[in-house]
Amino acid sequence: VTRAHLDRIAAEDGALGAFLHVTADAALARAAEVDASGTAGTGLAGIPVALKDVFVTEGVPTTSGSRILEGWRPPYSATVASRLADAGTVLLGKTNMDEFAMGSSTENSAYAVTRNPWDHDRIPGGSSGGSSAAVAGRLAPLALGTDTGGSIRQPAAVTGLVGHKPTYGSVSRYGLIAFSSSLDQAGPMARTVLDAALLHEAIGGHDPRDSTSIDAPVPTVVEAARRGAGGDLSGLRVGVVRELGGEGAREGYEQGVLDRFAEGVALLEAAGAQVREVSCPSFGLALPAYYLIAPSEASSNLARFEGMRFGIRVGDDGSHDVDEVMALTREQGFGPEVKRRIILGTYALSAGYYEAYYGQAQKVRTLISRDFSAAYDDVDVLVSPTSPTVAWPIGARVEDPLAMYAADLCTLPASLAGVPAISVPCGLSDGLPVGLQVMAPALADDRCYRVAAAVE
Ligand code: GLN
Repeated sequence: VTRAHLDRIAAEDGALGAFLHVTADAALARAAEVDASGTAGTGLAGIPVALKDVFVTEGVPTTSGSRILEGWRPPYSATVASRLADAGTVLLGKTNMDEFAMGSSTENSAYAVTRNPWDHDRIPGGSSGGSSAAVAGRLAPLALGTDTGGSIRQPAAVTGLVGHKPTYGSVSRYGLIAFSSSLDQAGPMARTVLDAALLHEAIGGHDPRDSTSIDAPVPTVVEAARRGAGGDLSGLRVGVVRELGGEGAREGYEQGVLDRFAEGVALLEAAGAQVREVSCPSFGLALPAYYLIAPSEASSNLARFEGMRFGIRVGDDGSHDVDEVMALTREQGFGPEVKRRIILGTYALSAGYYEAYYGQAQKVRTLISRDFSAAYDDVDVLVSPTSPTVAWPIGARVEDPLAMYAADLCTLPASLAGVPAISVPCGLSDGLPVGLQVMAPALADDRCYRVAAAVE
């Protein structure tokens, strides 16, 4: 199985650009080890997996899509990477991504353009676009992504995959290069709901090395996926979020996306779910709130990249003092979107503006959480399209950051509230995949899988 996927990578990745680094020799050695152990075929033993390059992997180059980390080989592995190894999976390599996970198209990578396997002239989504292209292109059966504002769900949606953002705190962030720590969450990307569930159970659960890790058992998502596949949702209450593509909130949504979504909702009804429309008035404020909170946290998290401890160092030839070396390293090591976020975040956190920007955004975040709580008094899950549009042509939004940010319209509320959300394919629009998003209350990830399996 590993060899077959390595062959696919060798044949196809020149065109797709999904991988930044392929660990071919180590993968074959590992596969042989699993074969010899006799465990292959039990659980995930012997199954190849690709990891977004945001996860640190001992001895294996890790860049987070940034020039500033070029050549860095971490001395330890992320908890999720270790757990996957313990489960017997085989690491195929590290996948391309927007630099420090900032973006929705993978075009902000410092290294490569990744193409959507459905149409090579279109983006694979982002920021986990290398992972989505790898799985959708059959270069890997499974991949891990991370989702801060939609970076698992949106790339899954536009490449026809299942992608789940777990409840915040339910999957370890140890060894995940931080973008926005209060939002970052790792999760599975796969071609079926059951595959995603198997991967989820392998990585989930408490980790004492992550201070925000929840001490609760891993939700039984595999069982939920199997149950949902039976297609019976009788008794389940589903809320269609009015503010995400409903009446009066359709600006920016493609008609094909709205049509496929409506058909997906009809499927839920046919499976016995009670569907009603629900209003979450603060969801419309998620975008501006997120684009203050995430850059603020990023401006702090990215302070550690100064050329002293990791990756490249620029100007270290004796002609510059240490401050100049740090400035030159950051000037040349970070790309334009990362610099934009650092400037935005530093501004939002500065004395005199803190309350007006960061403080307000935090209040909006609370309002969004309250909208979720109120909605979950009446329904078990909320649904919406995952992305307002299908995959757009490469280059179409690179000069327009606000158009790029608008891709996150539907995914941001669940991010800000920390609740779980899954994207599941619900048909094609003009030959391109559309995703349906299912959001559930915190720690009820199993509901996402159950409903997604019924749609699949
Ligand atoms: N597109 C969003 C951003 O650029 C979300 C990215 C993510 O989830 N990592 O911040």
